[in-house]
This record gives sequence, C-alpha cells and structure tokens, in this order.
Amino acid sequence: MRSFLWMLAIDRIHTKEFLIKRGLKLQNILIGCPWCERVPERANHLFFKCKFIEGFWYKIFNWWEAEWESVEGFDEFYTLCYNMKLVGIRKSLWLISISTACWTVWLVRNGLVFERKMMTMETLIFQSKMRALLWIRSVYDGLLMQESSWRICSNRMFKDQCMWDSK
Ligand SMILES: [Zn+2]
Repeated sequence: MRSFLWMLAIDRIHTKEFLIKRGLKLQNILIGCPWCERVPERANHLFFKCKFIEGFWYKIFNWWEAEWESVEGFDEFYTLCYNMKLVGIRKSLWLISISTACWTVWLVRNGLVFERKMMTMETLIFQSKMRALLWIRSVYDGLLMQESSWRICSNRMFKDQCMWDSK
C-alpha cells in the first residue's frame, strides 16, 4: 500500500489514460472513468474529482466529523488530510483511514474494470472502513475498538469512550 500511495503521489498509477499514453492498446476495455464513464480515466479524476468519488470522500470525511473540500489532485488531497486538526493517535488513525480509503478505491476500481464486479457506494465505504480497522489492529495492539462503533463514527469513539490505554 505504501508503494501504491507513492505511485499515486507521483502520478504513476496505471490508469487507462496512463497506459494508452504509453502506447498500450486496451482491448475490450472502455477507456472512460469506471464511476461516471464521462471522461477518460486518469488518476486525479478517478481518485478525487469524479462526482461519484467526491461523494465517497464526503462520506469518509463525515465519518471523521470533518468537512470535505474539493481538491485538484493528490497534493491538495494530502494537504487537506494532513492539516486535519487531530493529534496523537487520532491523527495516526485518520491517516491510516484515508490511506486505506485510497487503496480501496483502487481495488474496487480493478474489480470493476477487470472482473466487472459491481459495487455500490455502501460497499466502497464499508470496505474502506474494515480495511482501516484491520490495519489499525495490526499496528496498535493495545487499541480496543468495537467494529460497530468504528464503522459508525471513528472520531467520536475516542471522545465518548476511553478505550485507548495510553501507557
Ligand atoms: Zn468519473
């Protein structure tokens, strides 16, 4: 996932437009954005600017009680996420959450493009949250989180319930 994020940061994700520009002929694959099919699939659009994916980020930000703002690409997205007013463990969980969300967008996109696996906004959000939870559990052993409260509101969980043993 780290290398994936790095590729996203330097605009080297193998989107359809990226491959076509490098001379690859895509057979039996529509070249449009898999979410809206209105513009050629390129990273900035696929991950941040497509109306569908903006709806996704709106919900992910909302889950953290934060406000989504439209961004032009990864740089702005990263700045927006990094500047979120969170400290310590919460900041770390937030960054894990948005990283797994980016990764999930790509995995779901691949499923849609290569296996024609249908998906809904709910699936995309559910998979992002569960993937984040798995990662967090493997990183922070002492962090006791309930799956249900994590899915509902990640941020409030830490205000209402003192689940983190900070020692
Ligand atoms: Zn689109």
